[in-house]
Amino acid sequence: MDEYSDDPVQLLAIARRAAVQAATLQHLTAALSSTLSEEQVGAVVLREALPAFGATAGDVVLLDDDDRTFRVLCWMGYPEHLVRSWMRYPVDTGTPGGDVVHTAGPVFLDSFREWEQHYPRVAPIIHEVQLAAYAGLPLMFGGRLRGVVSFNFPENRSFSPEERAMLLAFAAQCAQALDRARLFSAEQRARVEAESAMRAKGDFLAVMSHELRTPLTSILGYQELLADGISGPVTELQRQHLSRIEASALHLLGLIDELLTFSRLEAGHESINVEAVRVATVLDAAAALVAPLAAAKSLPVIINPVPGSGDGELSTMTDCMKLQQVLVNLLSNAIKFTEHGSVTMSAHADHSQLVIDVCDTGIGIAAEHLERIFEPFRQVEQHSTRRAGGTGLGLSVSRQLLTLLGGTLGVESTLGQGSVFSVRLPLTR
Ligand code: ADP
Repeated sequence: MDEYSDDPVQLLAIARRAAVQAATLQHLTAALSSTLSEEQVGAVVLREALPAFGATAGDVVLLDDDDRTFRVLCWMGYPEHLVRSWMRYPVDTGTPGGDVVHTAGPVFLDSFREWEQHYPRVAPIIHEVQLAAYAGLPLMFGGRLRGVVSFNFPENRSFSPEERAMLLAFAAQCAQALDRARLFSAEQRARVEAESAMRAKGDFLAVMSHELRTPLTSILGYQELLADGISGPVTELQRQHLSRIEASALHLLGLIDELLTFSRLEAGHESINVEAVRVATVLDAAAALVAPLAAAKSLPVIINPVPGSGDGELSTMTDCMKLQQVLVNLLSNAIKFTEHGSVTMSAHADHSQLVIDVCDTGIGIAAEHLERIFEPFRQVEQHSTRRAGGTGLGLSVSRQLLTLLGGTLGVESTLGQGSVFSVRLPLTR
């Protein structure tokens, strides 16, 4: 048919054909857009594309990483016994698919005669299954040719330029869908691997913390027996040494407990125990726990009087031990990073929130580090922090604990002047 005809009947037929082709392509593109795996793309080719193009057999073959072997992703319309021996085959087997790879372009065969001429090795098979015309289209994605989609037709036909363009456009859509599937499965694999690595790390931390805690508890037990004079009289010098053993062992125990809490939080195993908590009591208890640290540096820890709420003392429903653990972390840091001045703790109600500020006059934190210090194992400056000790877990654990309690942990700091860490919790009475 003359494509440039003036005949209105012919023009109408051309327009109709173009409209049908556009609709077919649109339908196939929509079907491909929801596919997430190679197999789903294959299913669309077989179930939707083959009948839409009038093919009775076809397949999708993908290249192995070495680009030398085809692996059949899906097929239809060939006898089972044939396909079984063709599930994987070398690209150089004398098939039109092989030529698609070598030329990186499509191969169209109009009749069985062309099979006999160009592909004598496989022509008998095509004859056996009574196929004739053929279209083999390259699947290009991820920057290279990765496979071939083939359509076999039961009759001889010549492919018009529009048909060729449409088949190529469909192959391009297929390639895009296969690329998406490839990225999706790579992302899934990476996620599974990351999750399993996280679990392994969590398990390791939990087991190690437990294994370290057991002998440490026994060290502390024997230290106490010795200090109590149960194994014989203790000289003053021995008592001093025993108290250093105790201080170091307790410090180690604190670090191990921090690791244990971290691994429980990571695994989502930390549970909360909500009760009515008098704010002044938690502040006092936390300050008492860090008193030896502050005394060793002759640093005053000041607790500002807690203002009462409308109907009495300031209190809220929360997990007392977890809040105390957070405050001990913040106070320990404040003491650790302050050489002169003081550490001050204060609390007040701000509308529906309880705010507890831990304020120090220490080294402060540069603006660019303010968010990063909340990441696990993150310490600002290796040298000075190493001198100060610590695991880099305290703030990460504290923030996670507060999240569990429905609260937040924020910080404001000026380098060289000091920091204020602010705990905010819902005020429920
Ligand atoms: P750790 O104290 O065990 O190193 P943290 O998570 O508690 O771990 O703190 C992370 C880092 O944040 C610290 O190493 C320190 O660099 C910085 N930091 C925390 N609190 C303060 C503070 N009050 N003043 C200055 N720097 C601080």
